[in-house]
Amino acid sequence: MQHGIRKLLLLGAGHAHVHVLAELARHRPADLDVTLLTPFAYQTYSGMTPGFVAGHYTEAECQIPLEPLVLAAGVRWVQGRCTGIDATARRVPWAPAGPPAANATALPYDLLSIDTGAVLDRRRLDVDMPGASTHALIVRPIESFAQRWPQVMDMARNRPLSIAVIGAGAAGLELLFAAEHAVRTQGMPGSRFTLVTGGADVAGNYPPGVQQRVLHQLRRRDVTLLRDSCTGLQAGAVQLGSGATLACDVAILAIGTHAPPWLQGSGLALADTGHILVNAHQQSTSHPEVFAAGDVASRADTPHPKSGVYAVRAGPPLAHNLLAAHHGKPLKPHHPPRHTLNLLSCGPGHAIASWGPLHVEGGWAWRWKDRIDRGFMARYRASPAAMRR
Ligand SMILES: Cc1cc2nc3c(=O)[nH]c(=O)nc-3n(C[C@H](O)[C@H](O)[C@H](O)COP(=O)(O)OP(=O)(O)OC[C@H]3O[C@@H](n4cnc5c(N)ncnc54)[C@H](O)[C@@H]3O)c2cc1C
Repeated sequence: MQHGIRKLLLLGAGHAHVHVLAELARHRPADLDVTLLTPFAYQTYSGMTPGFVAGHYTEAECQIPLEPLVLAAGVRWVQGRCTGIDATARRVPWAPAGPPAANATALPYDLLSIDTGAVLDRRRLDVDMPGASTHALIVRPIESFAQRWPQVMDMARNRPLSIAVIGAGAAGLELLFAAEHAVRTQGMPGSRFTLVTGGADVAGNYPPGVQQRVLHQLRRRDVTLLRDSCTGLQAGAVQLGSGATLACDVAILAIGTHAPPWLQGSGLALADTGHILVNAHQQSTSHPEVFAAGDVASRADTPHPKSGVYAVRAGPPLAHNLLAAHHGKPLKPHHPPRHTLNLLSCGPGHAIASWGPLHVEGGWAWRWKDRIDRGFMARYRASPAAMRR
């Protein structure tokens, strides 16, 4: 390391890190050498992915290209995935996103920031639902899901399909409504849709009023509701906890996510769930030179749901604290909001809006969500010159 130069390593280009990159584009200290390790040349915005499935957006409209951001910020981009962290040696082993390369030596850091999101761990899935990694269309990584979705639409244009969505949380519901809309408007008539709830309430994280609205929307679209769990998948079938078999052409798996397995053995303090335990500064509770935000982290002081809204909100305080840590200045606490605005899209330009116990729905709620999502994208798709202003 050159004298006085410190190495900041950013893992993942998640919601909080695109803001960190934009801040670095505005002002990167000359004595801070920054590397970004992330597998894709773009960051897919999950909030718009159901709109892509529904046919409202192109795939490119849901992506933030990273090249303009890293160029403007003077950041080195390494295209790959971390495979672990050695928090004692301050090094990150990684693997290239493409074919294996001989020179993938561990990346050193003085400061580390992690925003790699949560995962659907294939090994755990195959234990709980044998056959899942082979036969399900899994929503994470979201980039792979988005790449495979057009194949489903090609099938739907040739024959009616039976589509099952496993998971009745916000992601599963939005994808179900979006798929139903796309297949009904662009596919052969006669396709059928089933929601497998896992035995849990539909939209279980939402207040009862929102749940009722979701159930109404499911009935309007003639979606079959199975309050049953998925215990395995085969080609063309979902095995259910009741012992029944659900025949289907496509099974979309959108159940709750896991912490990345590569965090085990990192030496970082982890929550019981395996996520990185952070304090009010988004700083590891065990290693002050490590910061984390988004779905990969868990706040030790104020646990909050894992969602894109919280990951976005953590961006500005994370950027501030990384630079403060570099300059040896005091860190600022981040206070995540108690309630966030939730806009659940229901397919054909309709959404249910909720904030705490309050809820309403309509076409205007969908247009509101569309405006917020496009506004978020526009902020990080600006030209490098605009970013520096
Ligand atoms: C279909 C769907 C719709 C959703 N809609 C909403 C919504 O409307 N509102 C909402 O609040 N939440 C929504 N969510 C949840 C939201 O997607 C997540 O909470 C959010 O993406 C978390 O952001 P993040 O920054 O933690 O990580 P991510 O957005 O997942 O970003 C992670 C980044 O890290 C990279 N990465 C991954 N692994 C590695 C690795 N090993 N090494 C290096 N880089 C890596 C990825 O390529 C990516 O760039 C939705 C989820 C889904 C699946």
